[in-house]
Amino acid sequence: MTARTQLPLRPYDVVLIGGGIMSATLAVLLKHLEPSWTIAVYERLPEVGAEASAAFNNSGTGHAGLCELDYTSENPDGSVDIEPAVALNEQFQLTRQLLASLVESEVLRDPSTFINPVPHLTLARGKTEVDFLRRRHETLSAHHLFANMRFSDDPTVIGEWAPLLTAGRDESEPIAATCDITGSDIDFGELTGQLFHWLRWRDVEIHRNCEVRGLRRNNDGTWQLRVDWRTDNDRLTRKVDARFVFAGAGGWALKILQKAGLPEAHGYGLFPVSGRFLRCDNPEVVAAHTAKVYGRGPAGAPSISMPHLDTRVVHGERALLFGPFPGANPRFLKRGSLFDAPAALRPDNVAPMLAMLKQNRELAWLLFSQMFATRKKKLAALREFVPEARAEDWTLISAGQRAQIVKPDDQGGGVLEFGTEVVAARDGSIAAVLGATPGASTAPVIMLEVLERCFPRYAALWEPRLRALMPTLGHSLARDARLARQTMAATAATLRLEGRVVG
Ligand SMILES: Cc1cc2nc3c(=O)[nH]c(=O)nc-3n(C[C@H](O)[C@H](O)[C@H](O)COP(=O)(O)OP(=O)(O)OC[C@H]3O[C@@H](n4cnc5c(N)ncnc54)[C@H](O)[C@@H]3O)c2cc1C
Repeated sequence: MTARTQLPLRPYDVVLIGGGIMSATLAVLLKHLEPSWTIAVYERLPEVGAEASAAFNNSGTGHAGLCELDYTSENPDGSVDIEPAVALNEQFQLTRQLLASLVESEVLRDPSTFINPVPHLTLARGKTEVDFLRRRHETLSAHHLFANMRFSDDPTVIGEWAPLLTAGRDESEPIAATCDITGSDIDFGELTGQLFHWLRWRDVEIHRNCEVRGLRRNNDGTWQLRVDWRTDNDRLTRKVDARFVFAGAGGWALKILQKAGLPEAHGYGLFPVSGRFLRCDNPEVVAAHTAKVYGRGPAGAPSISMPHLDTRVVHGERALLFGPFPGANPRFLKRGSLFDAPAALRPDNVAPMLAMLKQNRELAWLLFSQMFATRKKKLAALREFVPEARAEDWTLISAGQRAQIVKPDDQGGGVLEFGTEVVAARDGSIAAVLGATPGASTAPVIMLEVLERCFPRYAALWEPRLRALMPTLGHSLARDARLARQTMAATAATLRLEGRVVG
């Protein structure tokens, strides 16, 4: 293999680093907003959508705050704070609107190829959890965005919603569940692939096997990227200029920002969390369960690692996933490097990283010890959900990596955050997404923030074009019950999410 260097070809209006759901979403929005802009995507792997966005690298939950306990919390007076769940649901309604618009304009194919209705359940075990779930349901279901949510502490009813949960369960243990039939399962890998397929036909250059290795500012304020370009028998380094760069590089986004020397990224670090799923393909077991069931994780476990039992619909086939089981692994991407974590240490983020580790000793220990948790232990965790689970039906698979954000705090220390954050240059010429939760489900809202912060002078021009894709943009669905009901009904009809449960 030879290595050659080529000089810049032409400056692109936009270069996207990474071919995951974030870059795909941003590129589709930009193509609708400014069809004449030149856009290129560089992806280091042979395929797009093959890292965290790939179907079995994530759980495929269309996060809408219906079942995830970490979006609701108990106030000191015993009331339940549902604001984070409401905010997430509103964001997911925009995702549904964008997907529905793209289906209507035939950017996306038959919705069942990437999104399917799968009820979202929350399972509570023991008196304290049952009591909280009841109060959570009372507060949530009084809000129009959650009006479809049902509660039951009757094992017969719960068994009708999800038979695997109750079969063989000790009857002396109090249990309860909520069920919301408006939940969904999304194959983000397929969605990413379909979006890139459309983009390719709109003159967006999609270069695979191309890794961005470096970037620097040109004198005119544009960026020059150094791309390592591999073919079967050749390898060359190409220099590419861009007016705007988006690092949709998943766990490697921080690396890009550090290479760019962006002051806005100073002090940021990442805390990688690996994951494993138990996967079941036995048609009999798979057919007995159509739901995503979330519960509480073990004490000290990160909220992102609460175990859940998920129906997955991927390429028309159904499977069950249980997990993710978190673990320690220094890679920032599944196909990253063992040196990712040490190489990301810089004088500006060492103090925040050390402070974060000190504050999260229990979590670090839990992740480390989980690496040695046997298959037997994982099956025991599964049997808390599926008491009659048989070992031979379940196989362990590796999930994607999550790189959680570590940020400097006001006291010179560091905090671990479980959300997603857009980091952008002050002049808007480069931006990146860090963090992984709620992630793919809210990609459109995250990309709207990128547009707002990096292209403020286009805001007035783009607003009507964005409204054509997401009609309720700028309106609060949390406050406008009529608009919320209308919109949810419309997107459910287009995406074929209502009244149809796969199976
Ligand atoms: C275990 C797990 C469970 C999850 N569950 C859910 C869920 O249920 N629902 C949900 O909404 N979200 C979930 N997520 C989060 C979701 O998967 C991510 O938020 C989302 O896929 C991130 O998309 P992305 O485009 O930023 O990154 P990715 O999909 O990781 O794509 C980044 C791409 O950039 C490429 N790349 C990196 N560096 C370079 C470079 N220098 N040059 C060229 N290419 C580069 C990578 O190869 C990769 O293809 C989960 C994540 C994990 C790990």
